[in-house]
Amino acid sequence: MVLSRAALCASLLLLGAACSEDARPAQGTPSAQVVHYGYGFDLASAEARVTLQLQVEQPGEGCVALASALPLRELSAPGLQASQDGGTVALCGRFEQGAALQLSARTQVPLRGPDSLPGTQVGLTRLQDASGHPFTYLLSWVEACPLLGPCDPAASRLAHFELDVSHGPDDVVLCPGTRDAQPTRTRCALLGTQAPTYSALAVAANPAWVRTPMVEAAGVSVVLYEVPGGRVGAALPAAEVGDFLAWISSQLSPFPYGDELRVATGPTAWMGMEHPANVLLSETLPDLGSLYQRPALHALRHELVHQWAGDRTTLASPLDFAWKEAVAEYLAYVYEDERGLPGEAAQTRALWRQQGRGAGYAVRPLEDPGVPLSAWSPSTYGAGPLALLLQLEPLLGRPALLTALRALLASPGARSVEDLRRELERASGADLRAYFDAWVYGRGEPEWPQLAVSAVQAEGQVTLTVTQSQGAGVRFPLAVQVELEGGPARERVELRFPLGAANTTATATVPFAQALERVTLDPEKRVLARVRGALPEPAAPPLPRWHP
Ligand SMILES: [Zn+2]
Repeated sequence: MVLSRAALCASLLLLGAACSEDARPAQGTPSAQVVHYGYGFDLASAEARVTLQLQVEQPGEGCVALASALPLRELSAPGLQASQDGGTVALCGRFEQGAALQLSARTQVPLRGPDSLPGTQVGLTRLQDASGHPFTYLLSWVEACPLLGPCDPAASRLAHFELDVSHGPDDVVLCPGTRDAQPTRTRCALLGTQAPTYSALAVAANPAWVRTPMVEAAGVSVVLYEVPGGRVGAALPAAEVGDFLAWISSQLSPFPYGDELRVATGPTAWMGMEHPANVLLSETLPDLGSLYQRPALHALRHELVHQWAGDRTTLASPLDFAWKEAVAEYLAYVYEDERGLPGEAAQTRALWRQQGRGAGYAVRPLEDPGVPLSAWSPSTYGAGPLALLLQLEPLLGRPALLTALRALLASPGARSVEDLRRELERASGADLRAYFDAWVYGRGEPEWPQLAVSAVQAEGQVTLTVTQSQGAGVRFPLAVQVELEGGPARERVELRFPLGAANTTATATVPFAQALERVTLDPEKRVLARVRGALPEPAAPPLPRWHP
């Protein structure tokens, strides 16, 4: 982030420096990136000591801006003037090409400060877990790191991190990266693979956590941190956790954050959160069987995918939020479909469609929705995996989708929804512009297509016609299945609205000798479209139970 000239002048005036048209002109607008965050945190007092290392990218004379929603004390930056004006932290002076700079400050992190994001746990919380033990959570989020101290809140930035937590002798403290736990001090470091502030600035603690080795897989030791009587660990079969870790590592690359992965449970607002080398899971996950068939296992798989998709690679813009959730959901789903229990993937698909049909915002908004990310991002969890990936399976093939995801996530950096489109096109050879314009990009609340099916039976054949309509006249490329039933006969037919054509009808004629009794459009709940004109869908079969 670089200050505008007006903001730059305001900062200089605050510092008592000259800022007028006849002041010595800057040689260029300087810029510097935070490359390392040092975050010292006292668990009891919530006092933070923050040290940022910056690298000059663009030399010049002027100011570079960072952000902090918290009042800073002892703010200093050797060789520069450092000041805070509201939420802006300005470093002013001469920035030499390639120079390494340092900013340090102290601050007090409030319990859920007034700027905390509604509906989230972002900030510092101290809650009792279900067994009455104290759970402390210092949680950042996309563009929310200023709630914890000085930082660059840009979603696209990756950096190294070192966290140093002072605590009581009974506290068990977790933080991202490699972990060194001493009796009253726990230090964590992310000095290899970089990570974004949204997930890497984090501390979680509970004195009652018991560390239990779970499984070794793909060169990683998975360990569980749960209080006695906790119910999540029992819902995470070690062999299946290990098999998924091996599978996702083979799909993408070796685990990017060391050789230990910690899975901890507590009273978290979200089902899970993807801190590098640490996954936080809600202690209530076993109660959410109406969502996913095995919600704890699904949530862990989802957060594990984020180690690559969200942590090692980050968002080009907050508006690109959907791709990382879509990829986490989709890869968890592919595993469920190929190696999970009967019905497991189908329940995930049904949840996506139920959620996605009610999406209040486009998958990738073309403009700021005007509400906080925490308000519009829930729209992406169902619509995202369907529109960005699952609906493309019949059109491109699952192998092409997996090839595209491997390429998208192959190296660290920031990624956009457009990057995903380009990788899908590269892997498949298809032109997806019209598809993405219809299903993905938009302003305001999306209007999905309405599908209707008609069936005419004559001389042992059924002619099916599927029509699509939408108020704004958008044509949606898609492939949709139709199921025919009559007596003991059951037939599935796929009809396509091709990627490049603006068709409103698709037809197919298939042999079907039995008297037709039922026609079901999209029986496997694979498209976001609303369906009318079909006979009622049969009731879903009872799903197998996992726990006795
Ligand atoms: Zn997620």
